[in-house]
Amino acid sequence: MDDRARQLAVVSGKGGTGKTSVVGSLAALAQPCVLADCDVDAPNLYLLTQPQVDRQQEFWGSKQVRRDTSRCRGAGECERRCRFGAITRTTENPRACEGCGLCVLACPNGALELVPALTGHCYVSGTPYGPLAHARLRPGGGNSGKLVTEVRALAQETATERAAPLVIIDGPPGIGCSAIAAIADADMVLIVAEPTASSLHDLERVVKLVRHFGLPAAVILNKADLSEPQAAAVRGFCSVQEVPLVGEIPFDETVPKAVSQGVPVVTVPGSPAGDALREIWKWVARALGADGSPSLS
Ligand code: SF4
Repeated sequence: MDDRARQLAVVSGKGGTGKTSVVGSLAALAQPCVLADCDVDAPNLYLLTQPQVDRQQEFWGSKQVRRDTSRCRGAGECERRCRFGAITRTTENPRACEGCGLCVLACPNGALELVPALTGHCYVSGTPYGPLAHARLRPGGGNSGKLVTEVRALAQETATERAAPLVIIDGPPGIGCSAIAAIADADMVLIVAEPTASSLHDLERVVKLVRHFGLPAAVILNKADLSEPQAAAVRGFCSVQEVPLVGEIPFDETVPKAVSQGVPVVTVPGSPAGDALREIWKWVARALGADGSPSLS
C-alpha cells in the first residue's frame, strides 16, 4: 500500500441533489481529512465550511491570441477565419477568443501568437473540518476540467503535508469534462441520487461513466421518502446494476436549516438525516478499508 491519501469523490447526475450537504457531513465525520471543492463552475462547499484562505495561486488555464502590431499588415485573414468574432484586422476581443489558434496559422505575416491567459485562482483554506482546496474561475474563464485537476492536486499535496489519510472531493454534477476530472483515479465514487425520474436517468449516465473508468461506485438516495415509487425504481436500478445502495437519507427540514446556519447537518443533534449520514459514513469507512484499500468492485 502506498502513502497517498485515499480519494473519495462525491458526485451526482444533476445539481441540487444535496451532494454538498453530504460532503460537508462526511467531512465532519471523517476527521482528519482534506476537502476538495471540484464543482469549480458553481462552488458552494464554502457555505458549510466557512473557509479562511491560507494561500492562493494563479491558474493560467487557457490561451488567447496576441498581435504583434509591428508585423501586422492588416491582411484581415484573422477576421475572415475566426468563427467567434474574436478578432478583426485592428482589434482583439479576449473574452470571445477560444484559443483555437486558427488565426495564428492563417496570418500571412506571422503577426499573431497564442499566449497563456489568467483564468482563475486556486486556494487552500482552513475550515473546522480540515483544509479545503477550492478555486474561483474568472467570469468567462474556461477549461474547468484542468482547474478541477489543479484543485485535486492541491488537495492531495495538502493531505501529504498534513499526513491526512483521506481526501473528500465535492464533484461537479453531470458527466462532462470537469466531472471526469473529479472522479479520475478516485478510490471510490459515491453518487447522490433523488427519487425522481430525472435523477434516475442521470444516475444511469453517471454509473455508466464511473464503470467506463473502472472505478468502485456506490449510491446514496437522498430525500428517499419523497416518492416511494421513484425510490423503488432507484433501488431496482441499483440492484440490477449491482451498485451498492449504501444509505437512504429521509427528507428532513433540519437540512436547509443547517445550510442556512452554515454547518453540516450531521452536527445538529437529533437530525434524522444526520443519523442516516452517520450510518453511511460507517459503510464508506469500512469499504475504504482500514488499510485504505477499497473492497468494492
Ligand atoms: S485563436 Fe481562434 S478564437 Fe481566438 S481569435 Fe484566433 S481564430 Fe478566433
